[in-house]
Amino acid sequence: MESFFLQVVQKLAAAQIESPRLETRLMFAEVLHRLPSEIFQDITITEEEKKKVEDMLEQRLKHKPLDKILGHKEFYKYEFKVTEDVLSPRQDTEILVESALEILQNISKAYILDLGCGSGCIIESLLKDLPSARGCAVDISDKALILAAENADNLEISERICFLNASWFDTDFIIKIGEKFDMIVSNPPYIPSADIDTLDTEVKEYDPRLALDGGENGYDSYAQIARIAPRLLQDGGYVLLEAGIGQAEKIADIFIANGLRLRKIVNDLSGIARCVILQKAVAENKNS
Ligand code: GLN
Repeated sequence: MESFFLQVVQKLAAAQIESPRLETRLMFAEVLHRLPSEIFQDITITEEEKKKVEDMLEQRLKHKPLDKILGHKEFYKYEFKVTEDVLSPRQDTEILVESALEILQNISKAYILDLGCGSGCIIESLLKDLPSARGCAVDISDKALILAAENADNLEISERICFLNASWFDTDFIIKIGEKFDMIVSNPPYIPSADIDTLDTEVKEYDPRLALDGGENGYDSYAQIARIAPRLLQDGGYVLLEAGIGQAEKIADIFIANGLRLRKIVNDLSGIARCVILQKAVAENKNS
């Protein structure tokens, strides 16, 4: 008789789950409190543990994303707690962290603002890698902020980050923030409203709509962030934005129209223009 491990792999494969073997390994690792590398297909499993895996499998077959079943996900170099209150951290977003780090290496005691922090994966990865940096993480969802604060605790960076429950569409947003930053990072909602229903079940049912819906054409949040960014940045400060497929050029144009300079558009591992880097000019009189 086929091992329980292989039965799980086959059920996931039959449901068109992309990496059935890896996902099975991760479920077993979670239940057996082992590392994924310690799981092999004939591993012994008790009836009680089997039930736990079956429960996870049932949820996964309904296309609940694995990270939201396990309650955590690896992003960049770190592990983040994940719930249905936040967008699942995605590998595509790691390029934003790497691009930010390249710039921040040259800025001592950088002060960073994350607009729409969700789980905290972007800003907290930066703060963890840069021990002298400080940050402010903003989100419209208080549940996301509670989770982000827990993640900051786990990464032992809590004393260098503050959290603010606000929306960049608030008329008093700049006053609420009340400070200027060396860098703004953001992965704002960018899916055109009408396209959300066409997304995979994993995304449309389990990522918060608030974190996806970019308004009629997908650019509402970029337009608003572009309006406020110049007042939130120090002279010479940077903005790094995640872009959806095919959006990078237009995002750059929106920010250029608001006085920022385009520095670079960086592709992700799949070759998609994913990260738009802009900079606020240094005031003329300081330059000369
Ligand atoms: N990357 C997500 C997706 O395409 C969307 C995230 C966002 O809107 N910022 O599924």
